[in-house]
Amino acid sequence: MSARTDILPSPELLDFQLFDWLNIAGGEERETLSAILDTARRLAVDAFLPHYRQGDIEEPSLDVEGVRILPAIRTALARYAELGLFGMSFSEELGGLGLSFAASLAIHSNFAAANVSTAGYTMLTVANARLISTFGTPAQIERFALPEIEGRWFGTMCLSEPQAGSSLGDIRTKAVPDGEDELGARYRLTGNKMWISGGDQNASENIVHLVLAKIVAEDGSLPVGSKGISLFIVPKLLPDGTRNDIAVAGLNHKLGNRGTSNCLLNFGEGGGAVGWRVGMPGQGLPQMFMMMNEARISVGMGAASLAYRGYRQSLQYAQERSQGRPAGTKGGAPVAIIEHPDVRRMLLQQRVYAEGALAICLYCAHLLDQGGRDAEALLALLTPVAKSWPSEFGVIANDLAIQVHGGYGYTRDFDVEQLWRDNRLNPIHEGTTGIQALDLLSRKILHSDGRALSLLCARIVVTARRAETDSRLAVFASSLLDFWQEVEGVIEGLSGRGPEAFDDATLFLRAFGHGVIAWLWLDQAVTATALAQTAFRSSLLYACRYFFESELPQARCWLSIVARHSTLVRSMPDEAFA
Ligand SMILES: Cc1cc2nc3c(=O)[nH]c(=O)nc-3n(C[C@H](O)[C@H](O)[C@H](O)COP(=O)(O)OP(=O)(O)OC[C@H]3O[C@@H](n4cnc5c(N)ncnc54)[C@H](O)[C@@H]3O)c2cc1C
Repeated sequence: MSARTDILPSPELLDFQLFDWLNIAGGEERETLSAILDTARRLAVDAFLPHYRQGDIEEPSLDVEGVRILPAIRTALARYAELGLFGMSFSEELGGLGLSFAASLAIHSNFAAANVSTAGYTMLTVANARLISTFGTPAQIERFALPEIEGRWFGTMCLSEPQAGSSLGDIRTKAVPDGEDELGARYRLTGNKMWISGGDQNASENIVHLVLAKIVAEDGSLPVGSKGISLFIVPKLLPDGTRNDIAVAGLNHKLGNRGTSNCLLNFGEGGGAVGWRVGMPGQGLPQMFMMMNEARISVGMGAASLAYRGYRQSLQYAQERSQGRPAGTKGGAPVAIIEHPDVRRMLLQQRVYAEGALAICLYCAHLLDQGGRDAEALLALLTPVAKSWPSEFGVIANDLAIQVHGGYGYTRDFDVEQLWRDNRLNPIHEGTTGIQALDLLSRKILHSDGRALSLLCARIVVTARRAETDSRLAVFASSLLDFWQEVEGVIEGLSGRGPEAFDDATLFLRAFGHGVIAWLWLDQAVTATALAQTAFRSSLLYACRYFFESELPQARCWLSIVARHSTLVRSMPDEAFA
């Protein structure tokens, strides 16, 4: 395998996580899936990886015709469509390949690691087609979702506005009823949508915008808050081939992820963009949120993939770069920097973040595939973790990858600075880390019936009991149980308190996330011990040990800060910000 292929999530790791650990398929199905993964990986290397840097330098441009993107991105996406990969997770009736979400996500990890910006168009299109195929009418599905599943049309998600990002209840885009036709209830939309990824491009025949807007009542008033938000399909080109009333008001020039165009779109400057309502009035946000689990896990997977690639690239660099001598020795030839304990720490840290992040994303994807009451409850609890933990720790991993490269890491001669810039988006979009933390602590824990948390704790106990029977893992089993007992104690202390219970929600999410990842490392280690002795297996056990000995103790400190139930930040006067 060439050095370049070596930077994508390794087939050995994905095979282990999907088949040995999660057991998503066996026998012939496993072989078929491995073959699809292999084909996808080759496409990622041949068509997505080569323009990684070029896509960053040659940003999308805007002229009178619209937004133009790099030709190599268009070619890569056309090849992706040829293999039917836009439809990989859709049923065969919809023209898809019928793969599970876990398998599709593992396939996606290759493309995200190779070129996250180019892969961004596929992720958005799939999320869009999923929403339409779940909530749309048969006519809407046929007209809009099927061309997306084929990869001929791409999709966007138009939620944010210049003044409304985290608080979508404050959006101002309006929809005025305009009759009914074969595609359903028709409206005219006016408003501005900010930050729209893939908002315009010249790679697909048409663009299907999914737009959140408020329906104007007969008296001209707009509903207040999030309950009055509805969802609309607003295509760039109307069914008769004419252009809809949508203007690209500008492109955003971003820190990273530059290959994915990002637009300010003005709807209805010429009187009203034509849109068709999806589902019932007022159901816009609930419909969007039902699809959010998938979108959020995919964001987590993007972050994990970038972290993984940074790890592999910095590992390679550390093996090749000579500098300094071991502490306490004088003279002699310089050693490879991987010999220095501090560099080894930075590499191990990256590895446990990247592979831990892959694990939580695949675990959640598998829960989504399994369905049923327990899996759904657990998935709801773990989704904020699957979105935020890989995003937060993926950026730290990429930061460490830069550090391993020393001064060279701070230049554009190596990919690691771009990986960091690309990854820095992930704690921001699809709900910032702060918003995910509130969701976890408020809706999913303190304001819930506690069932999901009990299910999680029960699974953690099962893993610990299995680990206790292996002398190498028993000590980790007891740290894991102790840690989760502390988490439960902190939750108990927070319940019944007022709004100040949420002041340290982000720190709580961080600690809770570490506890979840520790559990998944141990659970994988338990699986690995049952397999034949291989280099992969020993390596996994070392990584598990590193997480328990170097990472989990840090999470205990974060928990102890949350446990103080301090009102420190809330009570700080304005002078503190002088
Ligand atoms: C590159 C990029 C691509 C994007 N793509 C899309 C897209 O395709 N479609 C789309 O609709 N949107 C997209 N977005 C928008 C993205 O989802 C928003 O940027 C995000 O939701 C945050 O909103 P905001 O930028 O208005 O920040 P704000 O909501 O103003 O948040 C600013 C800060 O305040 C914090 N904050 C806000 N409210 C609270 C609260 N109640 N409690 C605690 N803290 C709070 C946030 O955590 C954050 O740290 C994209 C953004 C970027 C940068």
